[in-house]
Amino acid sequence: MERTTTVVIGAGHAGLAASHFLGEHAFDHVVLERGEVANSWRRERWDSLRLLTPNWQSRLPGQRYDGPDPDGYMTMGEVVGFIDDFAARTRAPVRTGTTVTSLRRNETGYRVTTDRGEIDCATVVIASGACNLPAVPKISAAVPDTVRQITPFEYRGPDALPDGGVLVVGASATGVQLAAELRRSGRPVTLSTGEHVRMPRTYRGRDVLWWMDAAGVWDQRHHEVPDLTRARRLGSPQLAGTPDRTALDINALTAMGVELVGRSATVRDGEVLFSGGLRAVISLADLKMDRLLNSFDEWAIAAGVDSDVKPAERFEPTRVPSSARLRLDLRGGAIRTVVWATGFRPDYSWLDVPVVDEKGHLNHDGGVLDSPGLYALGLPVLRRRKSTFIHGIEDDAREVIDHLSRYLATHR
Ligand SMILES: Cc1cc2nc3c(=O)[nH]c(=O)nc-3n(C[C@H](O)[C@H](O)[C@H](O)COP(=O)(O)OP(=O)(O)OC[C@H]3O[C@@H](n4cnc5c(N)ncnc54)[C@H](O)[C@@H]3O)c2cc1C
Repeated sequence: MERTTTVVIGAGHAGLAASHFLGEHAFDHVVLERGEVANSWRRERWDSLRLLTPNWQSRLPGQRYDGPDPDGYMTMGEVVGFIDDFAARTRAPVRTGTTVTSLRRNETGYRVTTDRGEIDCATVVIASGACNLPAVPKISAAVPDTVRQITPFEYRGPDALPDGGVLVVGASATGVQLAAELRRSGRPVTLSTGEHVRMPRTYRGRDVLWWMDAAGVWDQRHHEVPDLTRARRLGSPQLAGTPDRTALDINALTAMGVELVGRSATVRDGEVLFSGGLRAVISLADLKMDRLLNSFDEWAIAAGVDSDVKPAERFEPTRVPSSARLRLDLRGGAIRTVVWATGFRPDYSWLDVPVVDEKGHLNHDGGVLDSPGLYALGLPVLRRRKSTFIHGIEDDAREVIDHLSRYLATHR
């Protein structure tokens, strides 16, 4: 039986950052990865995707973007290169092509079963990702067979989709990006919009994520976040990393000819029925954006940088159609594809320790699970608002591995 101190599950940036800090503590460990390093970026994203976080923000422990375009946004190939470089530089002990099929407790800690054998260890870091599967609502089962249904996991680009109309369900980052790409391909696009987070791409001359960073929003700790459960489930902001740094909010989509409808409530007799609450969710998103911009302005004055940036600006309220349709026929042939951009969820089907809640999420306090020596990294708002982003992993990984180190010191 192979033994090691720590097994890390997953070689995305979170697992590799864990490995980096385990190495600093000189703990022997292995990183088990079912695919290759940065597998999600290689296999589970669409072709045109770029990071929505700017290059200057791409940083991992001891590694920063140092290319010629700090304000640009990485393509998928560039992200894979960035994470690959990190794995090589830190000499992470990654075993690729090794799928964890079971994790259970035993007398000495944990037994990790893989498709290539078993490993016993004292501690485990679960860094298997928060977005392993698309989260598709049950109403999809009632969509007629004549309509193709697709999730962002299968979507690569417009060419693989049938010609004709598309209903995109979900208006977070993925939904607005795919709606824009499909509209540009010449297809009629309808966007079903529930709760969403509106953000301008730039504010007062700076990337909006510069403001999030500088004003300390990203660094807000998990126990300071007012409604943590909600914050952990919130969709990503309506942002895209395009070379021209344009906003991709609902007004931009409307100007492109995308039709706006409310949240998809149900599918009945071949029709999708939409909620009548479109105006309310849009007003709420506008209100929250203005509140965020106000907080940036207040921070700029308090930090003494108000005169270093352009003057405060406010954006046109989102234009709501005067009578958004409440139903859409899926049988008549006008809609040929439904894209479920309704979020992602983790997959813990291999986890045989009772730490998963009824919704399929890990129960944890800042990445510390209720099972001695078991930890998680890379989940939304794990220890800070920035936890799930590439630049957010360093602080979380350091603290979680410090906790693991203290655990080993007292329990070995
Ligand atoms: C569409 C999309 C766009 C995003 N854009 C940005 C962005 O612009 N900027 C940003 O900072 N963040 C972005 N993120 C968020 C985040 O950075 C990524 O989700 C990132 O991939 C998370 O890294 P991770 O290491 O936690 O998980 P992952 O990268 O998913 O890594 C987990 C690894 O675990 C492996 N694994 C899973 N299960 C097993 C198993 N049973 N056995 C062995 N291996 C296993 C997987 O193969 C995978 O390689 C985006 C996320 C998505 C979904």
